[in-house]
Amino acid sequence: MFSMVKHRAERPDPETILRSQGLKVTGARIAILKVLASTRIPLDPKAIREKAEIDTMDRVTVYRTLAIFAAKNIVRRVDLRKTAATYELADDHHHHIFCVKCGSIEDFAVCDVDKIAHQVLSRSSKFKTIYQHSLELFGLCNSCVRKSA
Ligand SMILES: [Zn+2]
Ligand SMILES: [Zn+2]
Ligand SMILES: [Zn+2]
Repeated sequence: MFSMVKHRAERPDPETILRSQGLKVTGARIAILKVLASTRIPLDPKAIREKAEIDTMDRVTVYRTLAIFAAKNIVRRVDLRKTAATYELADDHHHHIFCVKCGSIEDFAVCDVDKIAHQVLSRSSKFKTIYQHSLELFGLCNSCVRKSA
């Protein structure tokens, strides 16, 4: 389930995503999915709202829509240890390395977490199954290391 996946060159269009999940197609939902499909950088609700093509979308709508999408596994919440949670499309399995100084971010798809999860479960008397995980790495990018040298 958590194997290495290459980034999809093409992402399904927003309407297809909504219909396949049995969700009503609305302007706000389309606009939010378009924003998320246009980037590989996880965005917070404020940034999503600013980039959205419709300006009639209020804050509550963005939060509510992201919650619905997260519950349907259309988007995933990425914790980059910022004040606001960030979101991205959950259309492939990958993780992030994040520069704590300048905020630059890179994806990586190498994932051994299912192996770790298996070991953890075999030693746990309390847990039976693991169905999800998140893993973000925090460090310094090349240019920030150079600047501080
Ligand atoms: Zn990502
Ligand atoms: Zn940096
Ligand atoms: Zn993983």
